[in-house]
Amino acid sequence: MAYQTTNPYTNEVVKTYPEATPAEVEAALAQAQALYKQWRNDPVSTRTPVLHKLAQIFRDETDSLAKVLTTEMGKLFVEAQGEVILCAEIAEYYADHAEEFLQPRQIASIAGDAQLENHPLGVLMAVEPWNFPYYQIMRIFAPNFAIGDPIVLKHAAITPGSALAFEDAVRRAGAPAGSLTNLFLSYDQVSQVVADDRVQGVALTGSERGGTAVAEVAGKYLKKTTMELGGTDAFIVAHDADMAMVNSIAPRARLYNAGQVCTSSKRFIVTENHYDEFLASLKRAFAAVKLGDPMDPTTSLAPMNSKKAKEKLQAQVDAAVAGGATLAFVHDPVDSDGQFFLPTILTDITKDNPAYGKEMFGPVAQVYKVKDDDEAVALANDTNYGLGGIVFAGTGDYGAQLASRIETGQVYVNTFFSSLPELEFGGVKKSGYGRELGREGISSFVNQELVVKRDKPNDNEFGGLVLPFHLN
Ligand code: NAP
Repeated sequence: MAYQTTNPYTNEVVKTYPEATPAEVEAALAQAQALYKQWRNDPVSTRTPVLHKLAQIFRDETDSLAKVLTTEMGKLFVEAQGEVILCAEIAEYYADHAEEFLQPRQIASIAGDAQLENHPLGVLMAVEPWNFPYYQIMRIFAPNFAIGDPIVLKHAAITPGSALAFEDAVRRAGAPAGSLTNLFLSYDQVSQVVADDRVQGVALTGSERGGTAVAEVAGKYLKKTTMELGGTDAFIVAHDADMAMVNSIAPRARLYNAGQVCTSSKRFIVTENHYDEFLASLKRAFAAVKLGDPMDPTTSLAPMNSKKAKEKLQAQVDAAVAGGATLAFVHDPVDSDGQFFLPTILTDITKDNPAYGKEMFGPVAQVYKVKDDDEAVALANDTNYGLGGIVFAGTGDYGAQLASRIETGQVYVNTFFSSLPELEFGGVKKSGYGRELGREGISSFVNQELVVKRDKPNDNEFGGLVLPFHLN
C-alpha cells in the first residue's frame, strides 16, 4: 500500500511517502507510552491551553490548510475552509469543557466516600478516512488529548499530506512530542500496533470492511474500540412535509462533499403524494450542478477522491441498473479528465436489487416511493446500517415522533444534517458503536477509576458482595 497524494482534479501525482520502518513504529510507541505515564500525573488544565492554540492555528491558517485538503481529495475549497473552521471549533469546545466533563462523580454508598474518577486510559491507535481528513482526526484528538491519551495515527493512504499538516499544527501548538504521531502504516503494521501491550484503545472511522478488520484484531487483544462506519441514511419526506424546504435541502443533503459523507442522505423515501414533485425537483437541481475546478468558487460539485472510488461507484450503479433499477437522471458529461462522477438518480430499486441497502459513496441518489409515513419509517429501518437521517414533516414535533422510530444514531428534523462540536456523533447496527463529539465523545477512552475511602473499616456496615463472607 503506497501513501501518495494524487490530485483527483488534475491527476497529478504530487508526492509519494515511504511506509514506516519497524524502528519508527517502536520509537513512536515508546514515546507515546512515556508521555502517557507523565500525563497520568498532570491535570487536564495543563493540556487545554494547547487546544486553544491549536484552534488559533486552524483559524489563522484556514486557507493554506484547506488547500491541502482540496489538493489531496478534491473537495471544494469552500467546503475545505468550512472543515478547517469546524476543527478549530472542536478544539475550542474541548478546551473549554474538558475539565468540567472529566470531574469525578460522587457516589452515595454505605461502603464509604465513593467517587468515580476519570483518568487517561493510555496510548490510542486512531485509524481515519480521507473524506474529512482533518475533522476526523480532530474528533478523536481534541477530547483524548484533554484526557491525556497519546495517539498514534494511521490516516488514509490517499491523504498523507493532511496527516502531516495536522501533526505539524499539533506540534506548533506546543503539544509535547508523542501527543499525536502520524505513521504511514501498512495494514499488518496497524495490526501490530493494535496488538501492542502499550496500546489500550482503538478508534476507527471508515467502512464496514475496514472496521470489521481492525475490530477483529482489537477484539483478539482485548482493546477497547469505537467504530464510526458507513451508512445508508434515509431522508424521509412525510405526507405533510413543506416541499419548498424539502426541495431546497435535498440536493445539498446528497451532493455535499461530492456525496462522500457517511451521513449523506443516500435514500430519499418520499410519500406518494409528494413523489412526482420531489423527483422532478431533484432532477432539476442535479442538472443545475456545475462540475469543475474545486478551487473555483463557482464550481458546485467537485471530483471524487480517486479514480478507484469513481470506478467502484460506477460498478454499483451499473449493477443496480442491470438488477432492474431505473436510471431516472444522469448529468450531462463534463469535459475534464478529473475524477468526476456525474450526478445520478436511481428509482425503482426493489428489495432484490444489488443496490438495495448498500452504501453508495458519491453523488448518486436512490429515490423510493412509499404509501404513507409508517411505510417510510419501515423502509428507513430496513437496512443493516443506522448512522444518521433526516425527516421533513409538517411540524417539528411530528417529525421528531417519526425520527424517534428510526433505528439510527442521529436524526435532524426539518433541517440540514450538521456536525457540531457539542452534538454526539455515531451509529448503531453496522454503522458502528460508540460516540464521538459532545460530552459522550470524551468518555470513550477514560479509565473510570472507582476510589472508595474511609478512615477505618466499619464492620457493621459491609454490604453487597462482602456480606456472605462476612457472615461466614
Ligand atoms: P476504509 O477503506 O475503511 O478506510 C478507512 C481507514 O481504515 C483508512 O485509513 C484505511 O487505510 C484503513 N483501513 C482499511 N482497512 C484496513 C485494514 N484491514 N487494516 C488497517 N487499516 C485499514 O473507508 P473508506 O472507504 O476510505 O472511507 C469511507 C467510509 O467511511 C464510508 O463507508 C463512510 O460512510 C465511512 N465514514 C464514516 C464516518 C462516521 O463517522 N461514521 C465518517 C466518515 C466516513 P487505507 O486508506 O490505507 O486503505
